[in-house]
Amino acid sequence: MRIVLVGPPGAGKGTQAVRLAEKLAIPHISTGDLFRANISRQTELGKLAKSYMDAGNLVPDEVTIAMAKDRMEQPDAARGFLLDGFPRNVSQAEALDELLESEGIKLDAVLDLEVPEEEVVKRIAGRRICRNDSSHVFHVTYSAPKQEGVCDVCGGELYQRDDDSEDTVRTRLEVYHTQTEPIIDYYKAQGLVVTISSLGPVDEITERALEALKREKAENK
Ligand code: AMP
Repeated sequence: MRIVLVGPPGAGKGTQAVRLAEKLAIPHISTGDLFRANISRQTELGKLAKSYMDAGNLVPDEVTIAMAKDRMEQPDAARGFLLDGFPRNVSQAEALDELLESEGIKLDAVLDLEVPEEEVVKRIAGRRICRNDSSHVFHVTYSAPKQEGVCDVCGGELYQRDDDSEDTVRTRLEVYHTQTEPIIDYYKAQGLVVTISSLGPVDEITERALEALKREKAENK
């Protein structure tokens, strides 16, 4: 399956993406994670991306699209992928369509995770991530680690992302509304959007997502 995941920051895209990718046996491709990996390796791309990310703005399309394309062309993505955080505006969506078209393939679904705005700010402000693996995500109250500051999964150090401060979250939300939300209409016009609520226990949201994707796939056949 080829799936795009959309939703505001704090909707649980990263958490659900890891679980869905595992269940569907497809790679999870997160442009945010790819940028963060470049930042920790101190590459030129990482240095460029960091200034935009810290401010809560989008990294320029040219470098983002090239990076996403390169990842999607890796052999493990040949049978499908789950895109998390890409595309994030209409020009990226158009570039993705061109890429898929040139390979004669199509998206199966765009999964839209809905969450109320006041919940988003609470979720992000308490979010803590493992330095060893950014898929190990905790929350100081909603899913607290057994020992404060330490990852339950691997013992790594937990930290708060530089762009998870309250001010930056507000900018990221505005960027989401003005630049990313329009891709939902773009994909609605292609009949690809399935919307689910991203409230409730993590397992239930995963089940809800899998059911919705199954229905969408059956309808598209
Ligand atoms: P995320 O981990 O998806 O929340 O992304 C973190 C940050 O990385 C975003 O706030 C952007 O600064 C940058 N970023 C991630 N994906 C993209 C994208 N598709 N286009 C532009 N910037 C992106």
